Amino acid sequence: MAKYKLEYIWLDGYEPVPNLRSKTTIKEFSKAPTLKDLPMWGFDGSSTRQAEGRSSDCLLKPVASYVDPTRENGYLVMCEVLLPDGKPHPTNSRATILDDPDTWFGFEQEYFLYRDGQPLGFPKGGWPNEPQGKFYCGVGYAAVGDIAREIVEEHLDICLEMGINHEGINAEVAKGQWEFQIFGKGSKKAADEIWLARYVLMRVCEKYGVDVEFHCKPLGKDFDWNGSGMHCNFSTKFMREKGGKKYFEKLMAAFDKYKDEHIAVYGPDNHFRLTGLHETQSIDKFSYGVADRGASIRVPHSFVNNEYKGYLEDRRPNSQGDPYKIASRVLQTIKTVPTK
Ligand code: ADP
Ligand code: MN
Ligand code: MN
Ligand code: MN
Repeated sequence: MAKYKLEYIWLDGYEPVPNLRSKTTIKEFSKAPTLKDLPMWGFDGSSTRQAEGRSSDCLLKPVASYVDPTRENGYLVMCEVLLPDGKPHPTNSRATILDDPDTWFGFEQEYFLYRDGQPLGFPKGGWPNEPQGKFYCGVGYAAVGDIAREIVEEHLDICLEMGINHEGINAEVAKGQWEFQIFGKGSKKAADEIWLARYVLMRVCEKYGVDVEFHCKPLGKDFDWNGSGMHCNFSTKFMREKGGKKYFEKLMAAFDKYKDEHIAVYGPDNHFRLTGLHETQSIDKFSYGVADRGASIRVPHSFVNNEYKGYLEDRRPNSQGDPYKIASRVLQTIKTVPTK
């Protein structure tokens, strides 16, 4: 028998953006536990805006578990929050995602690294003396500073060791801004891994005295600096294998029809970011276009060249969006479109 450190992770009830919470339970197992070996647990929902003080127990149901390479015999366990009767808690956005092993999502998570209220690399109390332009995919101290890359690399290594399906990382357009991409097969997989990767990134940053700023326009809407998105690339089995121009046009009509429902779950303050500038479409318009980074949905060249088959990129979700809510809404809209 060995003692295992199980870090149960969940989303709290804060609005409009839930916070990650976690706590450790020590359990003995004769061999490395798998998801089905992990017991339900609970927490005090009155401390997380998920219950009243008088009846405050909420349940934690393990739904995905990953080895934690930073802790001996450690596991990171993503959980759904349930009510005492076992039904999904109203804040449980994961439970609203249609189950479909053949839906694939790829999220591109952008974020800023912040210290003392400013992006890493900004001079104290001021702004860089040159505009953004050379930072994107940049190299050298002037472009990325001294510790950002160390953080980004450490984060990447931990995630890869966990088995999180990162597809890449890059320095972004604004100073102190970075991105990682995660791809997953199955309607909940990439979203689980985005939340876990966010958790690991925030934890890595603790010892550097650095915070992760997920707000979509942290430098304000009035400055000529990029905001942060979380582009959502998606495909269903039908889109990949049958597709076709007619279906594509019906799908885009549905995305247009439900554009407000999409924006409602694509992250707060998105009107600061979706302005029509900085490679965005404005928030009140829906558009799509081939290779168009100013459209709501970008249609990759490969999609058109392949008889309208493949994946599409919804560019509207922002960096603070809940990938569970985003995946859920995208699938709901897709479901309204008949495939015959
Ligand atoms: P860009 O920055 O040009 O938009 P990225 O390479 O950052 O491109 O992101 C592309 C994303 O598309 C990746 O997250 C990738 O996993 C995802 N993707 C690729 N193929 C598919 C597919 N068939 N279904 C869903 N997502 C996909
Ligand atoms: Mn990208
Ligand atoms: Mn990007
Ligand atoms: Mn993109």
